[in-house]
Amino acid sequence: MSLRACLLVLGLALSPGAIGCSALAERRHANHGLAATRAAACQLALHFSVIDLVPAGRDGVSLRITHPSPDEVQRKLRSLWPKGPPPGVSEVSVERARPRLVVVLDDFGLHGAQLETVWGLGEPFSYAILPRQRYSARYARWLAARGASILAHVPMEPEDTRHMTLAGFLRVGMSDAERVRMFREHLETVPGAVGWNNHMGSRLTALAPAMRALVAASEAHHLVLDSRTSARTTLEAAAREAGRPALRRHLFLDNVRDVSHIRTQLAAALRLATRRGAAVAIGHPYPETIRALKLFVAEHRDEVQLVPIERAVPAQVAPVWRRHCKPGLGLHSTDDPR
Ligand SMILES: [Zn+2]
Repeated sequence: MSLRACLLVLGLALSPGAIGCSALAERRHANHGLAATRAAACQLALHFSVIDLVPAGRDGVSLRITHPSPDEVQRKLRSLWPKGPPPGVSEVSVERARPRLVVVLDDFGLHGAQLETVWGLGEPFSYAILPRQRYSARYARWLAARGASILAHVPMEPEDTRHMTLAGFLRVGMSDAERVRMFREHLETVPGAVGWNNHMGSRLTALAPAMRALVAASEAHHLVLDSRTSARTTLEAAAREAGRPALRRHLFLDNVRDVSHIRTQLAAALRLATRRGAAVAIGHPYPETIRALKLFVAEHRDEVQLVPIERAVPAQVAPVWRRHCKPGLGLHSTDDPR
């Protein structure tokens, strides 16, 4: 066990949020570490219902167990791994459940070098990747290998069509068949996605039949996040009608790109998460947003847990790393975020 790593986590133990760690094994080759960590997550999933893979370091992952009794977790971990975690697995942290906050970062895929900075914050954000862009597939594969939550960020026609500067917008003037074909092609360029949300779409999302057709065309296990770019949106309703896991965006963080504005929005997101049990905020990988998120996490980690998006749906959606587990492992259950 690395004393230093444990002290780092135990330092957080002074707060009611993060409260312990089991051990730190020697760091091995990065790819070996990822495979070992995913395998360890599968093993732990037999014993614990809420496990997250969270960013660690520049490009690694560590395991996080959320459980009402950390002592019980520590005892179980010692019985499973008496000599410490398996080789390649770095840290296992144990945290108490607290209100859940989902932060979806939209518009990934257009620029390189965005992921590194965001990953370095060490929190499990959810990444909405624009389909068919230069970095889309590369980013999706990189994130999926690390068990991160990815959404396909599907461009849809807004009221002001001058904003449609990218290729691949689903338009009002297309037939359902044309939209569905393009939508399916979009999803293929974002492998490993746990679901999808709309990019823009204030005009198209108002058309209920169009939204129903897209929901029907997506995988049954995909969760649908309505970005709510218009009050007239019908996307969430279409998803619920079809019995799909559905969420809505509660707050936009960075419609104004200013650190103090974004901090105000994050404070509102915290209040909402505390009141409802969970909240969903959407932002972008802007430097101002990253700065505000960093400050927010440092200040409020005791009060709120940042969680991947599938942890906020009442229905059961498996995180991407579970797809690699052997059959027979149950899905985690989450509380209904209401
Ligand atoms: Zn967008």
